[in-house]
Amino acid sequence: MNLDFSPEDEAFRDQVRTWLAEHAPTDPRPRNGMAMRQFDMGWLYQLWEAGWSGISWPVEYGGRGLPLAQQLIWHEEYARTGLPDIDSSFVGLNHAGPTLIARATDAQKQYHLPRILRGDVVWCQGFSEPEAGSDLASLRTRGVVDGDELVITGQKIWTSFAEVADWQELLVRTDPEAPKHKGISWVICDMHSPGIEVRPIQTMDGDRHFAEVFYDEVRVPLGNVVGRLNDGWSVAMSTLAFERGTAFTASQVALADGIERLIAVARTHPGPSGRGRAIDDDELGRRLARIRSQAASLRAMTYATISRNARSPLPGPEGSMMKLYYSDLHQEFGRLCMDVLGVDGLALGPDHGSDWTHEYLKGFSTSIGGGTSEIQRNIIGERVLGLPR
Ligand SMILES: Cc1cc2nc3c(=O)[nH]c(=O)nc-3n(C[C@H](O)[C@H](O)[C@H](O)COP(=O)(O)OP(=O)(O)OC[C@H]3O[C@@H](n4cnc5c(N)ncnc54)[C@H](O)[C@@H]3O)c2cc1C
Repeated sequence: MNLDFSPEDEAFRDQVRTWLAEHAPTDPRPRNGMAMRQFDMGWLYQLWEAGWSGISWPVEYGGRGLPLAQQLIWHEEYARTGLPDIDSSFVGLNHAGPTLIARATDAQKQYHLPRILRGDVVWCQGFSEPEAGSDLASLRTRGVVDGDELVITGQKIWTSFAEVADWQELLVRTDPEAPKHKGISWVICDMHSPGIEVRPIQTMDGDRHFAEVFYDEVRVPLGNVVGRLNDGWSVAMSTLAFERGTAFTASQVALADGIERLIAVARTHPGPSGRGRAIDDDELGRRLARIRSQAASLRAMTYATISRNARSPLPGPEGSMMKLYYSDLHQEFGRLCMDVLGVDGLALGPDHGSDWTHEYLKGFSTSIGGGTSEIQRNIIGERVLGLPR
């Protein structure tokens, strides 16, 4: 077993570092709406042209077919630059795209995958409903077969980036008579179809990423079903495996980088007593040291996961361990940002002021999005540790 990056990996790292130093955008990233979309898609197109989009995706769908370790190196070097995540491409690149690679027909892959990589389109996820979150299989949005189309009626909620999306990975109930896990289909839905209404929801950090989505007899070709009709639950499990398993790799790497930047701030920022530096405060110093070591554990877990995933096409339930640990650390990081900054942490203005404050507020959502921490604990208990339900 080789525990080091190979010489090819290190050469790849040098290329990434040099390219990012020369091409990183200097304009600030708009946080909402079409301006954000335009920024994200423009930057993703630039990455695609240079060969950095789809590093580990198959060559036949526009990727480079390189090892997952090199995708990880990309995330590490990207995080080091402090550049913002290309959030609106998260669903497309990290779970809709990988689900299509694993489960879609060749025609579906040929059409959609290159468009995702090039930044032509934004994807969103229509899974959660007002009465179906953790218990996703209770979803009620109906899909009725009519000729060679599905006619979809119902409602989704918490749909990130719906306002700027072109396509959606949508779960609908196509057989209401079947047991609840057996009557669901996974559908590619065109967000510009007649009958779709998107109502944005503003969150406490000032962002407007979420939306409610309403479907009033929306017609989707049956050819857009991924997997078989009524077999969508197994396709959705693939999506969630990617969402919890590999999708957060970039965020995990970026968190470790954020912790180092916070330690640098604590070296100059006044401590809570008003005398001396924050880092010299016993309690803050202890917590900063502890979170730095926890970030090192998270990094070791990330490497182990990447190594495991390189050998199997679908991430396993161990992804829930990463998701849970990452959420806990992200929230402690947010609290530490506020404790180091003191009153300066109140700086969230209309233009979203301090990134540290934004990080703190965003942290509340990390133990909910992609499945709550309680649900991850259930999965770890039952499927990793083999405990009874
Ligand atoms: C940042 C963010 C982004 C999101 N983006 C999307 C998106 O793009 N698309 C989408 O479809 N959804 C999205 N969601 C929704 C998310 O998937 C749901 O919020 C999540 O699955 C929880 O569902 P719920 O909100 O209905 O809470 P509930 O399921 O109603 O849970 C309420 C509470 O009960 C607990 N609970 C429920 N069941 C159990 C159980 N069996 N055992 C123990 N505790 C339990 C939960 O842990 C939670 O604390 C997003 C959420 C967030 C925060």
